[in-house]
Amino acid sequence: MENKNELFYQKQNIFQTSDKTQLEEIDAFAKDYIDFLNSSKTEREGCREIVKRAKQQGYSAFEFGQKLKAGDKKFYVNRDKSVVLFKIGKENLEEKGIKIIASHLDSPRLDLKPNPMYEDEGFCFFKTHYYGGIKKYQWAVVPLALHGTTILTNGKKMEFTVGENPDEPVFYISDLLPHLGTQQMEKKAKEVLTGEQLNIIIGGKTETSSKVKDKIKENILKILNKKYGVVEEDFLSSEISAVPAFKAREVGFDRAFIAGYGHDDRSCSYANLQAFFDSDLDQTCMAIFVDKEEIGSEGDTGAQNKLFEDLISELCENFKAKPRVVRAKSKAISADVTSCYDPNFASVFDKNNVAKISCGTCVCKYDGSRGKSGSNDASAELMGEIRQILAQNNIPWQTGELGIVDLGGGGTISAFIARLNIDTIDIGLPVLSMHAPCELISKADLYSTYSAYKAFFNHE
Ligand code: MN
Ligand code: MN
Repeated sequence: MENKNELFYQKQNIFQTSDKTQLEEIDAFAKDYIDFLNSSKTEREGCREIVKRAKQQGYSAFEFGQKLKAGDKKFYVNRDKSVVLFKIGKENLEEKGIKIIASHLDSPRLDLKPNPMYEDEGFCFFKTHYYGGIKKYQWAVVPLALHGTTILTNGKKMEFTVGENPDEPVFYISDLLPHLGTQQMEKKAKEVLTGEQLNIIIGGKTETSSKVKDKIKENILKILNKKYGVVEEDFLSSEISAVPAFKAREVGFDRAFIAGYGHDDRSCSYANLQAFFDSDLDQTCMAIFVDKEEIGSEGDTGAQNKLFEDLISELCENFKAKPRVVRAKSKAISADVTSCYDPNFASVFDKNNVAKISCGTCVCKYDGSRGKSGSNDASAELMGEIRQILAQNNIPWQTGELGIVDLGGGGTISAFIARLNIDTIDIGLPVLSMHAPCELISKADLYSTYSAYKAFFNHE
């Protein structure tokens, strides 16, 4: 311990410590991630993309009751919004347990209300009810795309997207011109645009021959009827989300970062998926991708659903193992993003206890708010074990918590996994401008996260 650096704990910027080959690996990994992000703007699309990639890797659909054997590679799709991948190892389940990494596929956005359409003074609008924790003013004056699923009265399911291709129209929420913004600018930020002002402009043309009062609305209903065969009542059985229409892009002259919609939590989901595919330990592993994290993990597709417990029990039955013994031996990573130190907003962070950009994946011992409330709070033993795995594999990493004590807080699905008597720890990327229509991550942190997940899946 003569070297001063060994005595002190210091974070290191990965871009400063990587050689040419490592930098190329980081870049190559980011490239495919950008494609994944662009094709997965909702949980349904994320789920579909994961299943597509799993099939290419030789995975097949699992149904309850199916017989399983060592070497099997399966996926289980839950209501098209959540998916679990698993591969059966040769190792004894009761002795080794299951290695689990769980991330979420949903991101904050604007959902249409069930009866969304109305006309007002030359415009037709969709009314929205926002999904997840957003700063509402950020979602105005941004080009929006619509991603939807509609169940028709004949039971037929229709899926559609408008606004993603350059030749398609986009949608738009207005803000006030600064010339008349004097009173608005005095308001608190949360009142600058209210939830009921997040109305999306969807059209403005009429047919001259029309005799009805809402001529623009009639014209749009005609367009929708012609293109999709729907009538206004079909909105009642729809899930339609407005998300930013732009694609993810590299950021900076040196292309160090990626800006895009939905890094929370598709960056961890992508790292989870690739690490799962690339791991080759002969132990049973599971990659879980859930929905509804942004609104509390409730519902039949959220992390509080009993599905994972059921799937574990199902695996156990196949191999005559006791689920409670297997769960007690299992280990899980809750793969979700965390905050990132932002020099523009230095006062909200404890500089020594927040993730720094490009310093690697962030292992969070706890999250929560007001005295760790609602947090999983992983043990020193588990932190120690993870630290060992990361050190053995030379993976750059860091630790951090969201922000300064009592300022706010947040949670992940870690507490819901830990409830099943499974050792669980939070590991994920730092994200700048989290929950904004366009978030920012570092390519170096993405690759570090993938490497950490892979090392976890591969650890004996
Ligand atoms: Mn998240
Ligand atoms: Mn979130």
